[in-house]
Amino acid sequence: GRSMRELIESGEKSFSFEFFPPKDEAGEERLWRAITELEPYRPTFVSVTYGAGGSSRDTTVRVTGRIATETSLTPVAHLTCVGHSRAELLEILDAYKDAGVDHFLALRGDPPGGPHTEWVSTDDGLEYASELVAFIKEHYDAAVGIAAFPEGHVNSESLEHDAQVLKAKADAGAEFAVTEMVLRASDYFALVERARAIGVDMPIIPGIMPILSLRSMNRMVELSGRVMPREVTSRLEPLAETPDLLRAEGIRISTELCDELLAGGAPGLHFYTLNFSRATREIFQALQITV
Ligand code: FAD
Repeated sequence: GRSMRELIESGEKSFSFEFFPPKDEAGEERLWRAITELEPYRPTFVSVTYGAGGSSRDTTVRVTGRIATETSLTPVAHLTCVGHSRAELLEILDAYKDAGVDHFLALRGDPPGGPHTEWVSTDDGLEYASELVAFIKEHYDAAVGIAAFPEGHVNSESLEHDAQVLKAKADAGAEFAVTEMVLRASDYFALVERARAIGVDMPIIPGIMPILSLRSMNRMVELSGRVMPREVTSRLEPLAETPDLLRAEGIRISTELCDELLAGGAPGLHFYTLNFSRATREIFQALQITV
């Protein structure tokens, strides 16, 4: 088959949707509703995140396998280094082989205590996403993507070091990148420039988190060690008491960001759906992308 890189760069813009493993039956129904409603857009891929531990990890394997067998979609399974020995990672890769899942997003993962806590090594485990990329490529004929950070990873000592980490992941065999949610198009373009300047030529897909509420957006941005751009908060804060108007303005802001990214040469858009389809569909409608 064609590589993921070829698909992303096939000439048309690439669209992809990210989901997380549902925690209960209601969540499972919501996820499948979102998948069903987004499938007609024929995304390049859909991805399913991998939790910090426990049963949600099995749910990721199960849901990703179901997407592979029961839909027309190409699933990308997120996988992390957190808490896994090499032997366990091999078992997980075997489960994916059985399910016909052969696309991965290789991540280090956040420490079990959250993004702001100290990294904890696992006996006979891996330390960095670049090692996981190499590990997957060594054991499985799979396409592997990785994470990139428009404003640098929260723990990165500098933007230059951050770009070197991206290069290490490319050198290990990664063929595409998806970014943390982009807050300003200029940050995304600067990331691409830093990458290209040191010979990283893989497609880098900007991540889009539709803005639906000021509080949840602030929380997510804070977790990533960043601050909301003033030009965004100044448009949203006056609407804090009118959630419907705020949501509509949030969709407008997100749409403008998508427009600017695509016009500036981004190879596509990766939507953080949070297992809902409505906001993504509204942005598609505003961008005049139809099924
Ligand atoms: P790495 O590339 O390994 O980087 C981690 C840190 O180590 C960085 O600070 C980097 O600068 C530093 N570093 C890397 N290599 C070296 C080196 N050789 N020497 C010194 N320092 C180095 N988390 C989950 O748990 N599950 C998910 O499903 C998930 N999906 C994500 C999807 C996307 C698109 C993104 C952007 C993030 C996702 N995350 C997920 C979060 C991610 O795991 C965290 O941001 C994590 O802290 C960094 O992951 P990474 O893969 O970029 O790690």
